[in-house]
Amino acid sequence: MEKEKILISACLLGQFVRYDGGTSTVSNPILNRWDTEDRLIPICPEMAGGLPAPRPPAEIIKADTEGVMRGINEVRTKQGDNVSSFFLDGARQALALAVEHDIQLAILKEGSPACGSRQINDGSFSGRKTAGQGITTCLLRQNGIRVFNEKQIAKAAKYLGKLGQSRS
Ligand code: SF4
Repeated sequence: MEKEKILISACLLGQFVRYDGGTSTVSNPILNRWDTEDRLIPICPEMAGGLPAPRPPAEIIKADTEGVMRGINEVRTKQGDNVSSFFLDGARQALALAVEHDIQLAILKEGSPACGSRQINDGSFSGRKTAGQGITTCLLRQNGIRVFNEKQIAKAAKYLGKLGQSRS
């Protein structure tokens, strides 16, 4: 049986996809092992949705992610541009990739308006964080995929172990 795959934010693997053109590379032995086992499926949802790198930083107004999903709130740049459609399209592509690879587990970069899973900016462009999740995280969770951040890789590995047992 094929090993379970893991969806992962591309910036965590050293790809230059962040809004500032940089990376958020994580060095972790578990990630290295998964990489050699060919389990990691990277995606940058913001770029998959059509945004370039670098790009203006964006935030979810009032951190109301579910509102964006329902079409009653927006993801905006500081200049006020509505970039919601890029974020929603990127989230749909991340979900499609997860479905294609039968993925049940994702490791996404904390704090991002696309990939955050516990905290995001509060939408005021003041640097304040609040409890919340990004657009891609929200869509993945709505479809039963467990999302961990880059500081929870050991926890994610335990979950992966349980998945492996339940599938065997
Ligand atoms: S959208 Fe996600 S993968 Fe892309 S740069 Fe931001 S945190 Fe990284």
